[in-house]
Amino acid sequence: MALINENYLKLKAGYLFPEIGRRVNEFIAANPDKKVIKMGIGDVTQPLAPSVIKAFHQGVDEMAKGDTFKGYGPEQGYAFLREAIAKNSYQDKGVNVSADEIFISDGSKCDTGNIQEIFGNGNKIAICDPVYPVYADTTVMSGKTGTCQTNGYYDGIIYMPCTRENGFIPELPTETPDLIFLCYPNNPTGTVASKEELKKWVDYATDKKAIILYDAAYEAFIQDNSIPRSIYEIEGARKVAIEFRSFSKTAGFTGTRLAFTVIPNELVAYDLLGNEYPVKPLWNRRQSTKFNGVSYPVQKAAAAIFTEEGKKEVAEVIAYYMENARIMKESLAATGYEVFGGENAPYIWVKTKNGMTSWDFFDKVLNEANVVGTPGSGFGPSGEGYFRFSAFADRENVLEAMERIKNLH
Ligand SMILES: *Cc1c(COP(=O)(O)O)cnc(C)c1O
Repeated sequence: MALINENYLKLKAGYLFPEIGRRVNEFIAANPDKKVIKMGIGDVTQPLAPSVIKAFHQGVDEMAKGDTFKGYGPEQGYAFLREAIAKNSYQDKGVNVSADEIFISDGSKCDTGNIQEIFGNGNKIAICDPVYPVYADTTVMSGKTGTCQTNGYYDGIIYMPCTRENGFIPELPTETPDLIFLCYPNNPTGTVASKEELKKWVDYATDKKAIILYDAAYEAFIQDNSIPRSIYEIEGARKVAIEFRSFSKTAGFTGTRLAFTVIPNELVAYDLLGNEYPVKPLWNRRQSTKFNGVSYPVQKAAAAIFTEEGKKEVAEVIAYYMENARIMKESLAATGYEVFGGENAPYIWVKTKNGMTSWDFFDKVLNEANVVGTPGSGFGPSGEGYFRFSAFADRENVLEAMERIKNLH
């Protein structure tokens, strides 16, 4: 008799985006003449940069000829890409990360989920609320939790509320975690963590022999140079943190797929007797057993974002999204909303007026302004009463959406 992994039965149904889709489709069916503007889902809208496309084509052409054809690539990814990342994303910024500590993958979503496999099920996981749903769901799948409570919290996970009161940076938990997911710049709140705030977490992890799983998918959107782009800018982090980065939002690779994970040589975890083990070889073992790398043309295309031209082109697209964010933030604030984020991240986190729930606000904005956003409560109970707008839209849609929201009653 084939037995299923019963941990999957604990997962609450993927509710948020299907429910948004259902309500939007219902509205469109009833109002076929209305133009609905979508500012909900966190996907990019601008095409890949010209130099990325050029390198992508070159990579495909190389695959077409016997003397440049490539089969299976190196385990951790091509050296040309890992070296370009180490130099441009870290070393040139004074951060100590070397190419041999970088693992190229097809996504940070996969990596943040898969990483749990190399850590034992006795680990206590801490995650923020509200949060990118992948961290909690993969924790459940791995068997580290009990069932889901009515508020959406799973038994066995340590939840860390991120609220307006704590500036959307969680307080150190009272129960001690072993693995701590942090994501800055944050999805969904669009807020960032300062060096001092991250230092507090690195010191805490060091003290507890815990590991921080640091999701820096939105690093490229940081405008304020005093905000850390990498956890490794913090002293001591190499011993206690894994960093995840993605080309998805940085360079429009959501449909092309490329990301990477950094595991420093010094990072250790323990067996039950307290013996230390380096973590990097475990991840290498996991990836080389279950993953065969990202296609050569995609790695070649990704490396193009580090050329002079590529850097300029990618920066222009980010500037375009961040100008959207600025327009949205100013407009929503002028309309009387309390707004957060949007300065170093492509998300605006809006407090609804008069204590309206996230879903009531969703319906109001959809029905009266024909604009789609994301209800904050879908990211966790602490997101109730908030709403997320994404800046990944075309400028004319942003301007029109803001104009319509201004006229809401
Ligand atoms: C979009 C996003 C990612 C990127 O995932 P990919 O699998 O690399 O596309 C990672 N973390 C967060 C929080 C995100 O929003």
